[in-house]
Amino acid sequence: MCGIVGFTGKRQALPILLKGLERLEYRGYDSAGVAVCDGKTTRISKNAGRVYVLKYKTESENLVGTCGIGHTRWATHGKATEENAHPHTSEDLAVVAVHNGIIENYARLKTMLVEKGYAFYSQTDTEVAVKWLDYCLKQEGEPLQALSRFMEQVEGSYALAVLFKEYEGEIYAIRKDSPLLVGVANGESFLASDAPAIAEYTGDLYYMENKEIAQITAGEARFYDERAQEIKKVAVRAKTSGEETEKGAFAHFTLKEIFEQPKAVERTINALLKDGFIDFSAAGISEKMLKERGQVWIVACGSAYHAGLVLQYFFESVAKIPTRVELASEFRYRNPLLGKDALVVAISQSGETADTLFAVREAKRAGAETLAIVNVYGSSIAREAKYTLYTQAGTEVAVATTKAYSTQLVAGYLLGVELARGRGGLDERAYRAWIEEIVALPAKLSQTLEIRGEAEQAAKRIAKQPNVFFIGRGVDYATAMEGSLKLKEISYIHAEAYAAGELKHGAISLIETGTPVVCVVDSMFEKTVSNLAEVKARGAFTIAVAGEGKNVEGAEVTLSVPNSRLFASVAVVPLQFLGYYCGVERGEDVDKPRNLAKSVTVE
Ligand code: GLU
Repeated sequence: MCGIVGFTGKRQALPILLKGLERLEYRGYDSAGVAVCDGKTTRISKNAGRVYVLKYKTESENLVGTCGIGHTRWATHGKATEENAHPHTSEDLAVVAVHNGIIENYARLKTMLVEKGYAFYSQTDTEVAVKWLDYCLKQEGEPLQALSRFMEQVEGSYALAVLFKEYEGEIYAIRKDSPLLVGVANGESFLASDAPAIAEYTGDLYYMENKEIAQITAGEARFYDERAQEIKKVAVRAKTSGEETEKGAFAHFTLKEIFEQPKAVERTINALLKDGFIDFSAAGISEKMLKERGQVWIVACGSAYHAGLVLQYFFESVAKIPTRVELASEFRYRNPLLGKDALVVAISQSGETADTLFAVREAKRAGAETLAIVNVYGSSIAREAKYTLYTQAGTEVAVATTKAYSTQLVAGYLLGVELARGRGGLDERAYRAWIEEIVALPAKLSQTLEIRGEAEQAAKRIAKQPNVFFIGRGVDYATAMEGSLKLKEISYIHAEAYAAGELKHGAISLIETGTPVVCVVDSMFEKTVSNLAEVKARGAFTIAVAGEGKNVEGAEVTLSVPNSRLFASVAVVPLQFLGYYCGVERGEDVDKPRNLAKSVTVE
């Protein structure tokens, strides 16, 4: 989580750092801070709360200088207070740093540092890391050796950007399991945890690998391995522009991104089709590899896990391949019994989700083929999985995913169809029919967006309720889970998703007069309608999401969407609107819900 930016060059650093932090704020936003260095003087400003607070505060402070680092925090150790906000420093400001990640052995290091006379002023693991680095610097006498020694002794995950007092105009950076990249252009240099923060200045980026050290000066970057031996790195062209992170005429990024879904889905389909046929050759995926797979394991977290559940139904019904979906955080620790013919599909918007990344490593260790479905080019999961299918959602800024989720589904459908063909399960006609169904999705999604007004009205009726249930059968249950999560994330209304047939085995006791029940009803239509009748009989306020022309008896409100064999893709849109408008109605910060961060780079 958290955003890191750095700049050293000819211009004043502060405005560049603040702009970068605004663009990275979706990564974490409970506190923010900057350090700017002017010759030998480093000035620090930080606060609990958002970047705009920092921006306002720094207007009256004298943070001049052409070299600096900045941070938006997503607290792991210690509350979101000014003391805990980054940058953290050594006593004499010899070392000033910002950190993303978790230092796992911080308690032991802290005890050792206290014995050596170091004092601590925050609850963070980061302050321990900074002081440990200071200790290493005092031992080694210079930054490269100090960072090398630091990486030998410090456990956990980190992206660390450091200003050393004696090294004017330089930023040092290291990373392990947290992303960091460097850009160099026109005599200036930039550092960021994510490309959008610096994409407007330079398209040429150096992605740092685990345990590499970067020494960044104005217009130049040198890289070293963990033993501080210089290495050569090749720049890659960024596939993102800073522009995408502006919200334009929309009130919120969430709404803007819901509306971007038809285009995002279309781009994703076009990138994976050639002349009407699925073409994964750019990803290096061969027909033979797919043909030889006997089982699929999908590993993911959050909404990506729900996309995985939808795909499980699709893979098993269309490709007839046994498929399991696992929460990445569970998968990685439970020694899964992966066959040699397993394909492990890792789904992650950011490509940096720590649990999913570790699950990929676990799968590789077990000898499985690994395939990533990710949105961010050059991200860790994309680089570590053997094959990558990129979704073309563009930069997704709102913390609760919408367009990335929809593109994950289509990339997955195409993979499912290709698996089916490889396994001999689809004749030419059936193959073509699926492609047509997938290609029809962008237009259907555009049509689905027209439900906005009705969904807003429905949201007004449920926004004051403390609990909402989402139900569905078969693949609709997976969509119900995603709808429930959207509502929880954005509006903070407690919601639960149930397989429609399961509700009466327990949770139906929670249905009271007026409790909203949102029913996704397509698969096993009649049976689901009966389940809706059961809750209506107990006083529930019933909302159905159903295909056009379907009469859902018992539903007080029906949100109609175009019919599709890929119903999950269209049915999720009204649920996104419900979550969004409930959040708006309750006055919540819908783009940046409390306690969340966009890319979860800690375990
Ligand atoms: N563990 C550090 C802290 O709690 C860094 C968290 C982050 O990545 O923002 O301050």
